[in-house]
Amino acid sequence: MGAQAPHSDRYSRAVVYACRKHEGHTRDDNKTPYAVHPVRVCEHLRRIAGEEDENVLCAALLHDTIEDAAVTFDNIASNFGGDVAALVSELTNDNRLPKARRRSEMMEKLTKLSPRAKRVKLADRLDNVLDLLNGMGTPEKHVRYADETARLLTACAGACKPLEDTLKDALEKLRQMNAQMFDRS
Ligand code: ZN
Repeated sequence: MGAQAPHSDRYSRAVVYACRKHEGHTRDDNKTPYAVHPVRVCEHLRRIAGEEDENVLCAALLHDTIEDAAVTFDNIASNFGGDVAALVSELTNDNRLPKARRRSEMMEKLTKLSPRAKRVKLADRLDNVLDLLNGMGTPEKHVRYADETARLLTACAGACKPLEDTLKDALEKLRQMNAQMFDRS
């Protein structure tokens, strides 16, 4: 399995757009540029799921721009097309809500996502869990992520077996890591 990155102008523009919009933002370690994350989500989709749908790959690159980088739906639609904008908006939480509320609403929305949006969501979660396994995140985040990821896997069951299996393995490792962290305290 594993699909090549598309060689289209639109795909290249989406990479640059994501880098620009997330410029100055970092991951939880406060040093990794945030844009590394959407690029890796796109890679997980290609390499693990063999994703070839260019709209899905562009949406993966842009999936955090509306929520975290103040980009509008119309801006994505005019630059990358209405289908990509619709996918990104499916993956966007309402950032006017407090963070905890935003998270709980997203978990409720998961089962209603389109199969394509579920694939991006699985790859997004996989990348976030891999960051935790690499030592990022507070203990509280580790515990919350283990719980949320189990629910996410249930809500997205059947969307993409290779991604689900990889995420299940990562979740198992996260649980082992969390158990060790609590043993020490
Ligand atoms: Zn993300």
